[in-house]
Amino acid sequence: MPLTVHQFPCLSDNYGFLVRDEATGKTACIDTPESGAILRELDDLGWELDFILNTHWHPDHAGGNADIKAMTGCTIIGPPEVTRIAPLDREVGQGDTVDLGETRFQVIDTGGHTLGHITYFDPADHVAFVGDTLFALGCGRLFEGTAEQMWASLQRLTALPDDTRVYCAHEYTASNARFALSVDGSAALRARADAVFAARERGEWTVPTTIGLEKATNPFLRQADARGFAAVREAKDNFKG
Ligand code: ZN
Ligand code: FE
Repeated sequence: MPLTVHQFPCLSDNYGFLVRDEATGKTACIDTPESGAILRELDDLGWELDFILNTHWHPDHAGGNADIKAMTGCTIIGPPEVTRIAPLDREVGQGDTVDLGETRFQVIDTGGHTLGHITYFDPADHVAFVGDTLFALGCGRLFEGTAEQMWASLQRLTALPDDTRVYCAHEYTASNARFALSVDGSAALRARADAVFAARERGEWTVPTTIGLEKATNPFLRQADARGFAAVREAKDNFKG
């Protein structure tokens, strides 16, 4: 496979991702939740970092930028809002492309969790780094954007191929499953929730997921319109499961 994804836990429930274009050895870090863990993984793999690709400005996504740049001299690329907490070398948005060797990521606007949140999609490998926009059986909270904005962002993601591997930034799936079961009793969701609970019991990760699986079972995506989505989002914000 031309793009290798190395995934590892960071902080309490984040994932870190190091990605490498196998044709050229060019390497990028998707967000910087924990600089120490990321630098350790780079060292273990013997990979040299060329880029940080940020999805949004939150500290558990861009907080390690300064340390990692100081240690590696990498180039930092992200949406303009990241400059709220750290400098960027290149600002990108909807329609831009980011080249990692021979791998070309498309930048997709997925604002809503934060206003300028973006997703990096590799159409050759069907891989998407969605930050805190879409989670397995869930979606990001609306800290800055509106339900309409987030719904439009999620529509851009569900338009990707069903077999797209979706690398979410957090392991929230078991609690998302408990909420999902409170709003949707479908057999497909019950089966998936059981598999998620069992996987987490065994200490296994439930990320990545796929667009197809989320379209079939994620209650936030299974709404008819932004109003329906807004109601589910509000119910989740108030859910005590
Ligand atoms: Zn966030
Ligand atoms: Fe986050």
